[in-house]
Amino acid sequence: MRSLLLLFLAGTLQLSAGDHTVLHKKAVVADTHNDVLLRAMRGEDLSVRTTEGHSDVVRLKEGGVDVQIFSVWCGSEFGAGRAYRRAVEMIDTLKSLASRSPGMMMTPTYGSVQKALKQERIAALIGVEGGHMIEDSLAYLEDLAARGMNYMTLTWNNSTSWATSAADETEKGDSLAFKGLTEFGRTVVRRMNQLGVMVDLSHTGERTFWDALAVTTKPVIVSHSSVHAICPSRRNLKDDQIKAVAKNNGVICINFYSGFIDSNYHRRVSQIRTEHGMLIDSITAANSDHWKNELAIDSALAPFYRAAQPSLSQLVDHIDYVAKLVGPEYVGIGSDFDGVESLPKDMDDVTFLPNITRELLKRGYSERDVRNILGENVLRVMKANMRP
Ligand SMILES: [Zn+2]
Repeated sequence: MRSLLLLFLAGTLQLSAGDHTVLHKKAVVADTHNDVLLRAMRGEDLSVRTTEGHSDVVRLKEGGVDVQIFSVWCGSEFGAGRAYRRAVEMIDTLKSLASRSPGMMMTPTYGSVQKALKQERIAALIGVEGGHMIEDSLAYLEDLAARGMNYMTLTWNNSTSWATSAADETEKGDSLAFKGLTEFGRTVVRRMNQLGVMVDLSHTGERTFWDALAVTTKPVIVSHSSVHAICPSRRNLKDDQIKAVAKNNGVICINFYSGFIDSNYHRRVSQIRTEHGMLIDSITAANSDHWKNELAIDSALAPFYRAAQPSLSQLVDHIDYVAKLVGPEYVGIGSDFDGVESLPKDMDDVTFLPNITRELLKRGYSERDVRNILGENVLRVMKANMRP
């Protein structure tokens, strides 16, 4: 009797687990922000399974990812004369990775995205994260578009001479020479519309956000931001912004970073750092390189940080919030895998993506809604922007 009951339970568990994995596999899963190219730039071969970080081509496939926008990023230290060249190097690195990976192909047009989906290969696209990489030049913008740039994030944390970032608008405020888009900034947005490059409004200041929405004639993307009402970070969108993106027929792709999901995360982390002050002091005393020290501190404190992680359910709360506020047609996934030091529980790396599908089904979302959220909303915005 007992073994029969166990058999029955195993059967039902398998069935419900199977439901979400089957749907996840057949749905188009699109992730609009992954930073793994930074690891490729450091010489890692991502065409094979790796043990570091959150992703590689093998694990993307296992996570059911069908469409991946790879972030091409450099910091503000890559100024004029270097930033554009750095972007080209990163694009070439992605193209080289795709050429070594039979399961993936570069997809610069919407038709090629469809072709990749048919062939069950990962459609690889380029997201240039920061307008500073065009170095104030429309010729560079056009060149990057010709190289396959699918979106450009108008600013990263650093402002450009033509657009202000969320970081600067909130921290520098009135001391800024201007806020929002300049006339040249408006020209950049119009040219992006003509070139088939999606306008990405993650990282931009609120003024830039509203200025860009007033100019664009195409649906925009917010490639990796979450919900301000749940977690009031300057990187997250306020309700009126979410409503405006929906009105524009665009899409907001939720960022998985613990610090953008849970407003308590940073407080818990600083508590942990205070508790382990002596350990931190001993690491910083041994080395003068700030970033190396931070990495060493992060890895030493990793077991404690794990206790500070938000839950998977808290991550899905952000998707749920956008879906309830404006509808499930305007939300997607912008993981920020390999670009963040902490992710929610049960989202250790890209292979854990089906857990989102399971959670959405558990919350009563229909198959249609789940498919939209996982990728079809992003495909709609791509179709409206990209060359056919
Ligand atoms: Zn970012």
